[in-house]
Amino acid sequence: MINVVSTCLFLYLAASHPPSGPNQVRKPDRSPARQIQKVNPAKPERTDPFWQKALQEVYKSPEELAAQDAREKRRGLVLPKLARGNPAEKILALTFDDGPHPGLTEQLLAILKEKDVKATFFVVGKMVEKHPELLRQIDAAGHVIGNHSFSHVTLTKIPTMEIAAEYRATNDLVKKILGQSLRFCRPPGGDYDQDVIQTATELGLTTVLWTDDPGDYANPGDSVIQGRVLRKLTNGGIILLHDGITQTLQILPQIIDYAHKHGFRFETIDELARSVRQKR
Ligand SMILES: [Zn+2]
Repeated sequence: MINVVSTCLFLYLAASHPPSGPNQVRKPDRSPARQIQKVNPAKPERTDPFWQKALQEVYKSPEELAAQDAREKRRGLVLPKLARGNPAEKILALTFDDGPHPGLTEQLLAILKEKDVKATFFVVGKMVEKHPELLRQIDAAGHVIGNHSFSHVTLTKIPTMEIAAEYRATNDLVKKILGQSLRFCRPPGGDYDQDVIQTATELGLTTVLWTDDPGDYANPGDSVIQGRVLRKLTNGGIILLHDGITQTLQILPQIIDYAHKHGFRFETIDELARSVRQKR
């Protein structure tokens, strides 16, 4: 029954609001929930086997991302992506993926406020849809918001049109809530190819990857974190963390303190991108 209703809703939304671009005229609608549904071509959640397979989590390690970047360079392929800030500057970026999550996002924001650090949040559209107030809190605290797709689907496993729909749905949702156009995105799992990056670029989004991964989802413990990341921090590094994992809250103060002690300062992703442009 629910599937039938969902399918009907989807058909209605698709028919009345084809994904014809950001400038399409929409009739005013008093209900915030209905407004949000109308701009989400990725809604409702799909259950078909193709989509379920694409939803399976993938993950690229910093080493795999570096190897992929090296392969592209060997082939003379220059993809517009941000893999690192200016290596001549002692700057780092903290990035938090997968949020917002009630109960945890607030704690993350409190730590960042206490440490006086600005970060970048790559949000998932379906989470923003459920918790728009948390998106407003992230923005009000002065952090940068990035697009982490709508459904957290592996973008290399879906057709170009659906990649665009995923990114566009979150762009439109954030625009509706904050009036803000997003400029940065991160593909789930860091899994990208030429198509994923080009589609993002066409939507005005720069794809951001990472150089350091503390593995906050694996509950590694303090000494492992120290060994895995902190001693390896390098200029222009982009640190992958997660919004929605308790372990992140435990390791975040250590990461910030350690970096500060070693002369690094934290910047948002837009500052890091600026540092790269200045280098040229
Ligand atoms: Zn993610």
